[in-house]
Amino acid sequence: MKFGGTSVGDASCIARAASILVNAAKECRCVAVVSAMSGVTNRLIEATNHAEAGNAVEATAILEALRKQHEVALTSLLPNEKGRESIRGKLEEVLAEGRRLCEGTALLRELTPRTLDAVSSLGERLSAPLVAAAVKEAGAASEAIDATELVVTDAFHGGAEPQMDLTREKSQARLFPLLEKGIVPVVTGFIGATVDGQLTTLGRGGSDFSATILGAALNADEVIIWTDVDGVLTADPRLVPEARTIPEISYREAAELAYFGAKVLHPKTLNPVVQAAIPVWIRNSFQPDRLGTKITPEGRSIGGGVKALTAIRDVTLISVGGPGIVGLPDVVGRTFSTTAAVRANVLLISQSSSQNDICFIVASTDAQRTVEALRKEFAKDLAHQDVEHITVDPNIAIVAVVGENMRGIPGIAGKTFSALGRDAVNLIAIAQGSSESNISFVIEEKAVKQALVTAHREFGLGTPHG
Ligand code: ASP
Ligand code: MG
Repeated sequence: MKFGGTSVGDASCIARAASILVNAAKECRCVAVVSAMSGVTNRLIEATNHAEAGNAVEATAILEALRKQHEVALTSLLPNEKGRESIRGKLEEVLAEGRRLCEGTALLRELTPRTLDAVSSLGERLSAPLVAAAVKEAGAASEAIDATELVVTDAFHGGAEPQMDLTREKSQARLFPLLEKGIVPVVTGFIGATVDGQLTTLGRGGSDFSATILGAALNADEVIIWTDVDGVLTADPRLVPEARTIPEISYREAAELAYFGAKVLHPKTLNPVVQAAIPVWIRNSFQPDRLGTKITPEGRSIGGGVKALTAIRDVTLISVGGPGIVGLPDVVGRTFSTTAAVRANVLLISQSSSQNDICFIVASTDAQRTVEALRKEFAKDLAHQDVEHITVDPNIAIVAVVGENMRGIPGIAGKTFSALGRDAVNLIAIAQGSSESNISFVIEEKAVKQALVTAHREFGLGTPHG
């Protein structure tokens, strides 16, 4: 069971999470994976920014504020001062490490990816002891565990990949004996370590990924991701009021949605569980009586094949082109080796057969380094005007229509685009993978709400299907 930041956001949330865990532990063997309390990772990253600018005072002030926040939670979770002491000792150790890291960074005015990972990881290392203490308080044995002891990764700081064989070995060796004794392990999400013990993180929002990595490593029957929404919805309810929870979707559909910015899941979450076909639930820790969404290998087909809509903002359209590229056979290859070299996540690609232009979309945070790398790669071609332009448009968004069973159903693209046309939404680029489980289009950012509302209505997604 994984509890996200809002599900451990304060003492009462932590107590609720603890009672979910204690109830589950009565029925089965259960491992908890926890995020940092909500907002904490952002604050830690802010602290590293101050430190990098040489401002150790501001950085340590943030750590001090975090100490208070966790102390408040600790005080209200554990009525007994004696019980608090040992937890407080652990929290102090973690915070002291944070202070040392920030002071070192401020001294050098240099923030390495390794240090950034070490500081960002502190939030989980503060929340896990609190949750474990709350579980004990609620009546089950529990132990906080640092995922550096369990999850073995490569050394790509800020987005490390797990090495499953080693992770399986370590996790089983460490956790099975605890489970046998009826102890609920509370593991820090988001964190791993390289083979030689260097701390890494799995990328922002990576605690979901931690949960499925451990689920797969331990051959779990299921993984439950407790969050603050009722599951996977047909669309973002803030934009589409008729949106509702989807009872069951397939791995593929969930992955498409996650990939395209439905914030419920980290995009890599399902990778570890696909092979073993372990179901993953998304449930609301604030409404534990609701079932949420079950993600399964096949999903369950409903109606006309379209399951959900999603929009991704904070993305940038980059285009490499000009008539000169028609004759350059290696432009596509070089473009995408360049994006790969800077580890930019390419969300959508579109090239017309006239080959005048290759356009693709990356997260806005990746845009600048991608464009710089492309300008370097194509410097000669730009000088000779074989490649005329590398342009950037940040004011766009992607909307995706997702559904595994859209495959082979003709007319879905037609229906989508004529409805959008009727509502005056202009399309900048379109892409449909040959898996046909997703039709994506690029529009101006300000048209997102209209596009979602239009398509949601067009496919009747607001009406429950049997
Ligand atoms: N605390 C980390 C973050 O905010 C990981 C997570 O919550 O999933 O990105
Ligand atoms: Mg999250």
